[in-house]
Amino acid sequence: MELWQEMIRNSVSSVDHLVEKFSIERETAEKLDEFFQARINPYYLSLIRYPGDPIWLQCVPDIAELEDIDSQEDPLNEDDMSPVPNITHRYPDRALFLVTSQCGLYCRFCTRKRKVGDQSKISMRTLESAFQYLESHPEINDVILSGGDPLMLTDNMLEKIIFRLRQIKHIQIIRLGTKMPCVLPHRITPQLCEMLRKYHPIYVNTHFNHPWELTDESKRACAMLADAGIPVGNQCVLMKGVNDNADVMKDLMKGLLAMRVRPYYIYQADLTKGANHFRTPLKVGLEIMDKLRGHISGLAVPHFVVDAPGGGGKIPLLPDYVISRDDEKIVLRNFKYNIYEYPEINGDSNSNNADLFMRRKKIRRRTVNKKDKIRKINIPVLNNS
Ligand code: SF4
Repeated sequence: MELWQEMIRNSVSSVDHLVEKFSIERETAEKLDEFFQARINPYYLSLIRYPGDPIWLQCVPDIAELEDIDSQEDPLNEDDMSPVPNITHRYPDRALFLVTSQCGLYCRFCTRKRKVGDQSKISMRTLESAFQYLESHPEINDVILSGGDPLMLTDNMLEKIIFRLRQIKHIQIIRLGTKMPCVLPHRITPQLCEMLRKYHPIYVNTHFNHPWELTDESKRACAMLADAGIPVGNQCVLMKGVNDNADVMKDLMKGLLAMRVRPYYIYQADLTKGANHFRTPLKVGLEIMDKLRGHISGLAVPHFVVDAPGGGGKIPLLPDYVISRDDEKIVLRNFKYNIYEYPEINGDSNSNNADLFMRRKKIRRRTVNKKDKIRKINIPVLNNS
């Protein structure tokens, strides 16, 4: 057994553990265990500095989860967008492929807690129908392995899945959505990296939420992935009491960039049952973005997004930088709240550069078929080009 597997085995997970370690009343602990079981591995447990701190809040069951009874279990409508078991197909050219129900840590804010930890909900037995779906949909060129956490699979099992995906010619990008570099960095081994690098392009999206999670171990894990040629991005969730503070977010984003992890998204917390106590007003996220953009390197500034309830997908939100606009000018403010006027350009709004590019592309395609007439074709030129 590898070290990371031993650490999973030694996790805090039972009702007895909850009572002994966190002084939760037994009756409450039983209800919490039934609602969404705990799994806190020894590594992540060691990051807790005091009760109720940002690490504790993310992993220790809380009675507030039981008071949130009216919210939905699947607010993003993933199950309705699942044409076959294990697949969610929401965006035109991408698909989410759930390969395990297990995770290195069970996060109390998880939006997929209706499935996580329950092997009957994400089964290995139904992988074949998922592969067949991907094979028969040539529009899908990007597959995100998720779960659960795909790095809970052994290297051998994970390789079988990736190998099979690589036999599907229209799949170009394989992404792993994994929290392991943050919650159990020991899972990132030289053997894993050697295996993954055979199947490029492979991307990893990981999930750090607080600067205290940027430890020597997690830095080493991310460096190993980067050294294997795997671009690593970070998706974090904005949560009350965890990271709803611009200075905390600034430290997190700068720290991630320094360890070669590119901040990618800050998610507004989903409306998931049992997790609404983590939600913050939207203005908190916008204020944080206002204090990031311009103040730290653009490379460290993620997109702030709301994952639209009902399955509308990610919608980016930006602070207001436009003060006013008319046909003549646009009035903008910069990150220091200085005001600038930018003159608008006159012209047909239908004839922008993107349209010109597409029209040229169409014309070029026609010329391939009619090589003898190439010189007779006029490419339209715009006044403002
Ligand atoms: S690792 Fe991801 S899927 Fe697993 S419990 Fe945490 S948020 Fe949910």
